[in-house]
Amino acid sequence: MQNFNLHTHTSRCFHAVGCDEEYVLAAIKNGVKILGFSDHCPMDQYTVYKDRMKLNELDEYIQSIQSLKEKYKDQIKILVGLECEYIPEYKDMYPKFLKKVDYLILGQHFNRFDQKDFTAFITHEDVQVMEEYVTTAMKTGYFTYVAHPDYFLYLFDKYPQEGKHAIEHIAKCSKELNIPLEINLKGRAKGKKMIDGKMDYRYPNSQTFEIIAKHHAPVLFGLDCHNPKTFDDFYPELQNYKEEFQHLHLNYVTECPVK
Ligand SMILES: [Zn+2]
Ligand SMILES: [Zn+2]
Repeated sequence: MQNFNLHTHTSRCFHAVGCDEEYVLAAIKNGVKILGFSDHCPMDQYTVYKDRMKLNELDEYIQSIQSLKEKYKDQIKILVGLECEYIPEYKDMYPKFLKKVDYLILGQHFNRFDQKDFTAFITHEDVQVMEEYVTTAMKTGYFTYVAHPDYFLYLFDKYPQEGKHAIEHIAKCSKELNIPLEINLKGRAKGKKMIDGKMDYRYPNSQTFEIIAKHHAPVLFGLDCHNPKTFDDFYPELQNYKEEFQHLHLNYVTECPVK
């Protein structure tokens, strides 16, 4: 059973609830051994939605998590990280973030500062650009894992050819570079819809994970908590989620990839 969760938000992103300490207490209660916070990285150039802290709030976020790390050190290991989109114009920021936080995860919600989230608008061309940016980002060595690799699928009712191509490429990079791909449980909680004539999750989608399985790419679970309650809802169910994907023989990561 995976004993860590590296995908946890805080109320600083405006779409998560509860205070930082409530997430820690919920994780301890559910037996999580390593809890990583990965709130959306500040990107002041992105103004389409108000969905993240500002750059001048980053230090307060880090300090808050560090103080919890110390307070609960006998009960749980706490890490502080960020979930980032890879935007080429922003590339100098990632090593700067890594001087301050323990790890980064790559969560591509859009490709440009002036672009809406992929759950609101996406074109086939955006999927191709996403592939390019995600695979480029993986090669930089800055990112511990790739969150929700099939997030782009949200609005499609037919799995786009560009999307299959993108997942193949991402899975190959994942295997080669040993960068895990995430089975995102927040996406699962959004329920199923008809895709290619079959009821399936938008993400994590079964066609995505068939491709990932074929390449033996490493995978892990991410709760993507936006509410402390998520630990109660998802964490005890991890074994059942594994069974749903049993026929794919996925290559599960057994140890926390942040050392
Ligand atoms: Zn995300
Ligand atoms: Zn997230």
